Amino acid sequence: MRRRWLFGDQLGPLFLDAPDQPVLMIEAHSVLRRRPFHRQKAHLVLSAMRHRAAELGDQVQYLVTDTYREGLAQVDEPLSVLQPTSWPALHLVDRLAEERDVERLPARGYATSRADFNAWADARGGKRLLMEDFYRDSRRRLDVLMEGAEPVEGRWNFDTENREPPPKSATLGLPEPSWPVEDDIDAQVREDLDRLEREGVRFVGEDGPRRFAATRAEALNALDDFVENRLPTFGRYEDAILTEDRWMAHSLLSASVNLGLVDPLEEVDAAVEAYRSGEAPIASVEGFVRQVIGWRDYIWHLYWYLGEEYRGGNELHADVDLPSWFVELDPAGTDAACLKWALSSVRETAWAHHIPRLMVLGNYALQRGWNPQQLTDWFHRSFIDGYDWVMGPNVVGMSQHADGGVLATKPYSGGGNYINTMSDHCGGCVYNPKKRLGEDACPFTAGYWLFLNRHRERFSRNHRMRRAITSLERLPDLDQLVAENPDLV
Ligand SMILES: Cc1cc2nc3c(=O)[nH]c(=O)nc-3n(C[C@H](O)[C@H](O)[C@H](O)COP(=O)(O)OP(=O)(O)OC[C@H]3O[C@@H](n4cnc5c(N)ncnc54)[C@H](O)[C@@H]3O)c2cc1C
Ligand code: SF4
Repeated sequence: MRRRWLFGDQLGPLFLDAPDQPVLMIEAHSVLRRRPFHRQKAHLVLSAMRHRAAELGDQVQYLVTDTYREGLAQVDEPLSVLQPTSWPALHLVDRLAEERDVERLPARGYATSRADFNAWADARGGKRLLMEDFYRDSRRRLDVLMEGAEPVEGRWNFDTENREPPPKSATLGLPEPSWPVEDDIDAQVREDLDRLEREGVRFVGEDGPRRFAATRAEALNALDDFVENRLPTFGRYEDAILTEDRWMAHSLLSASVNLGLVDPLEEVDAAVEAYRSGEAPIASVEGFVRQVIGWRDYIWHLYWYLGEEYRGGNELHADVDLPSWFVELDPAGTDAACLKWALSSVRETAWAHHIPRLMVLGNYALQRGWNPQQLTDWFHRSFIDGYDWVMGPNVVGMSQHADGGVLATKPYSGGGNYINTMSDHCGGCVYNPKKRLGEDACPFTAGYWLFLNRHRERFSRNHRMRRAITSLERLPDLDQLVAENPDLV
């Protein structure tokens, strides 16, 4: 059997063809020298790789080198490689296959195959590739939450029951998530990262206790904990933010599934089982299943389908550099309570749920015309679950509209009103979400109108933006707004 070269995000048993297959793993440090990753992310990836190597014992040849090439030069055997998760890594494998005996195999760790997606997309002529259609097709194909040809309970979508504003209470009152306990491998990783820092490698964010799974056992434990304690509440408050409740009812499983420690269909099976046994309502279970086999797989496939250039899109000509306080995850750089909170969350844990990512961090950048490629790089480095394949569609497409509307027909930009409805931040903020003018004008509200104003011509040709542009044209104080915000004109 060929030795399987495993990348650092191919760590579960499904990435081997047999339990005793020989393995090659290369811990290449040059990637850490090139740009500053969040300290907790670097810790998690190294810890997960080393834990996997410890499980594999003599079966693995584990090399610590500067580059992959240096590691590969130490191995003569024929290799097999599963399709990696980024264009640059794919090119490396393709070049390698021209130079030596390398068997290339399809990717694993996603609910649907690239061939399935391509057939689905080609059947639509590559146009109108809507997530909802892909998701329904996947539900049918994988027979998830189906009764014959129909969705269970007669509906595909429970959004009307989900996505409520937060309750009046400070927290959802759920138990604290079950966190892993660090061990000797973590202590060694911490020591190695300290040494690298002394040698000049830079990280951002706080060194943490490790909160996310580094082993399959920890990932399965985290899945059980989610299903038992948070899944029943998941759908209802999926989009809400509570200052005192960072995790709310989210699964916190993205890092585990992206490292390959748990299979997305295992997550789905566990959630569906909770529905079938009456432990979680359909609205929550369907909401979670939609995230995993809908959004996650859809984003993965679009990364490849839209091609390598997609990531470089900048249709709105957004060329402002990210400010250093943002790059350094320094919440002192802003007085906006919601932004301060989201940035603190990233600094302290390398995680925030999808609404702070989309409607606070991404929205702020979009309104200010920050460069989408710099922002993509920032998300990739700063988040515990950030990988190249997630960045293009999520950041360039969904968050920054830098693809000109390929992924979302309308930009995800909103004013303070949205944040005020969906969070409890505004009450404790120096700004007023209702105000766009004056000293206490909310930067999101002012930013929203000025973003529309900057792209007025483009958006007036977009029928989904017509109402917003009509409202902009009726604003009595646009001139004053422009005068107060020369940077956003
Ligand atoms: C601007 C932006 C950047 C993002 N960057 C990342 C990223 O780097 N890595 C990442 O895994 N997710 C990313 N997401 C998607 C989503 O925010 C995270 O997957 C989620 O917040 C992780 O927390 P969770 O595991 O508790 O998710 P839950 O809210 O519990 O959702 C369940 C699961 O659905 C999957 N999922 C849902 N939406 C997406 C999506 N759009 N793309 C990929 N997976 C999805 C994840 O695996 C997640 O674990 C991003 C979203 C936005 C808007
Ligand atoms: S008032 Fe504006 S800046 Fe302050 S928390 Fe609300 S939305 Fe954020």
